[in-house]
Amino acid sequence: SAGVVIIGAGHAGGSAAAFLRQYGYEGPITLIGDEPHLPYQRPPLSKAWLKGEASGDDLYLRPQDFYDEANIAVWLERRVEAIDTKDKTVTIDGEPVGYEHLIIASGSKARPFGCPGAEATPYHLLRTIADAEWLKPHLRAGQRIGLIGAGYVGLEVAASARKLGSAVTVFERESRILARVASPVLSEAFTRIHRDNGVNLITGAEVVRVSADGDLRRVHMADGAVHEYDVLLVGIGALPADDLAQAAGITCANGIVVDHQARTSAADVFAIGDVTSREVKPWYEGRYRLESVPSALEQAKQAAAAITGFKAPPPEVPWFWSDQYDYKLQIAGLTRAGAKLITRGDPATGAFSVFHLNDSQQVICVESVNRPADFMAGKQLIHKAVAVEDSVIADADASLKPYLQ
Ligand code: FAD
Repeated sequence: SAGVVIIGAGHAGGSAAAFLRQYGYEGPITLIGDEPHLPYQRPPLSKAWLKGEASGDDLYLRPQDFYDEANIAVWLERRVEAIDTKDKTVTIDGEPVGYEHLIIASGSKARPFGCPGAEATPYHLLRTIADAEWLKPHLRAGQRIGLIGAGYVGLEVAASARKLGSAVTVFERESRILARVASPVLSEAFTRIHRDNGVNLITGAEVVRVSADGDLRRVHMADGAVHEYDVLLVGIGALPADDLAQAAGITCANGIVVDHQARTSAADVFAIGDVTSREVKPWYEGRYRLESVPSALEQAKQAAAAITGFKAPPPEVPWFWSDQYDYKLQIAGLTRAGAKLITRGDPATGAFSVFHLNDSQQVICVESVNRPADFMAGKQLIHKAVAVEDSVIADADASLKPYLQ
C-alpha cells in the first residue's frame, strides 16, 4: 500500500504530515496541493505581510529541507480529481494513486459572489498568496478600494489598506459588522476604530449591482447611489471545499462530518481543517465549521494520532485572533445566542473584553481587545467551566486568577 496520502498542502495538511513523522509514522507520506507553494500561513496575507512588515519566507510553515529530511513527498500544482474509498485510491491526472490512510485537508473556497453584474466586473478575493501578491501593489495612496463584506479578513484588509494610504469603503449588508460572529459591543468598537481611521464603513448596505467601465469598478446601491473604485474586493465568507468527499459518498453536512479523531464516515479516511464539520466537546453542543489555524492544528494532531496509535491529544477550547491597526483581538470559545454579556474595561479606551456567560454563570466565550490576560484567563475558565460573578468580571481591576486554582 501507499501509506498516507494528504489532499491539500495548506495549514492543516502540511501540519498533519509533520505530526505523522513526529508521532513515529514510518510509511510513505504524500502531500498533494494545487497551489505552487509549500504549506504556508494565510493569516499574515491580510495583516503583516500585506502591510510589508513580513517577508515572503516568513509565510511558509517549514522550508523544503524539512520535507526532504522527513521523507515527505510534496506534489505541488497537482489537483486530486476523485476519491475512491472502496479501491482506496485518489485520482490525479487521470491516474489512480493508492492510499492506506487518506487525509482530506482541502480547506475552504470563497462563497460565490452572486451580485448582478459580477460576471462582467473584474473583482478580487483574498485567500491565497497569489491573491495577496496581486493586491499588495494596489494598496497605496491615490487608490480607491471598495470592499464588499466586513468579515475578519475584509476588515484586516481595510486596516492594512488604510495604513498604506488607500481610500477604503467597506459595504456590509447586516446592520452591524461581524454580526454573526461577535457581540454587539465588539462590533461597535471595531466600527468606531475603522471610522476613526478613515474607513467609509457602510452598514445595512444594499448593493444591487456591480459594473465596470474601463479601469473603473462601480458599486450600485438600492437608493441609486453609485460608488467608483480602482479595486473591487469581495470577502463574503467561505464554503467548505468538500466536493470530492461528497462525490465519493462521504457524509457531509456543511463540511465533511468528522469525529474527535478526525475520522469521516469512510474507513481509513480522515478530514481536517476548514473543510470539516466538527464537534467541540465537552464544552458545546452541535457541529461547527471552525475556519481557524488552532482548529486546523488540533485536528492535524487528532488524525496523526489516530493513524499512528499515538496518544490522542486532549480537546482544546477553540480560539481565534485578528489584528487591525494597533488592536489585537483574541477570542476564546464560541458565542451562543442568549448568552449573558458582561463587559470588562471601557471599550472607549481601546482595551476591553466581553465575557459570555451561560445560565449557570459559566464562561463560554471571551472576546478581548488589547487585554491578553483576560483572553488567557477566559480560555482557562471556559476549559474548566468555572462560574464567575458578574461583579468580578465587570471590575477591570479584579483578578480572575482565584477562579483558576
Ligand atoms: P487551507 O490553508 O485553505 O489549505 C487547503 C489547501 O488545499 C489549499 O491550498 C487548496 O488549494 C488545496 N486544495 C483544495 N482542493 C484540492 C485538491 N482537490 N487537490 C489538491 N489541493 C487541493 N485563521 C486564524 O486562526 N487566524 C487568523 O488571523 C486568520 N486570518 C486569515 C486571513 C486570511 C486572508 C485567510 C484566507 C484565512 C485566515 N484564517 C485565519 C483562516 C486560516 O488560514 C484557515 O483556517 C487555515 O488556513 C485552514 O487550513 P486548511 O489546511 O484547512 O485550509
